[in-house]
Amino acid sequence: MKISKELISESEIQSKINEIGDQINEDYEGQDLLIIGILKGAFITVSDLAKRLKVDVSFDFISVSSYEGTETSGQVKIEKDLDIDISGKNILIVEDIFDTGLTLSYLKKILDSRNPKSLEFMCMFIKDTDKTTSLDIKYHGFKIGPEFVVGYGLDFEGKYRELPYLAVLS
Ligand code: 5GP
Repeated sequence: MKISKELISESEIQSKINEIGDQINEDYEGQDLLIIGILKGAFITVSDLAKRLKVDVSFDFISVSSYEGTETSGQVKIEKDLDIDISGKNILIVEDIFDTGLTLSYLKKILDSRNPKSLEFMCMFIKDTDKTTSLDIKYHGFKIGPEFVVGYGLDFEGKYRELPYLAVLS
């Protein structure tokens, strides 16, 4: 497979990250924040965002699986849990892409039961598809069409994550 089309450029993505970083700095001023990145796709978003943050922030990662190839399996499983106890903390979950919402609504249920002080979501890309859930995403990057995308952390069979822009495959 070859990359057919750049959907969102590196500079558009970086200016959106700046915008979201500024907003987070304002919203969490004077407070602690624990950012939880969902592996593997969110690693680039978390690392770019981290460099913009001025609040008292720490990081952890969780790994879940929900997809195989380009098809949803409808299954969400925790592959690697958090290392940090989140009770009483302000949590921001960072996800690469929001499609049906299955992954995040599942995580919300699990993490809410661990009694965080607050729990919010950031998604870099939101797919314009039927949602199985109506989750409130506090920080979002770009709305995109229903096509399968790669780059900026998103893969196809383990490849293309390193691209600094978002693309569709042919
Ligand atoms: P949801 O649970 O919201 O349906 O799906 C979220 C997960 O599905 C994302 O974390 C991502 O792993 C995967 N996913 C959904 N759409 C795409 C896509 O267009 N490209 C890639 N690479 N992964 C996707």
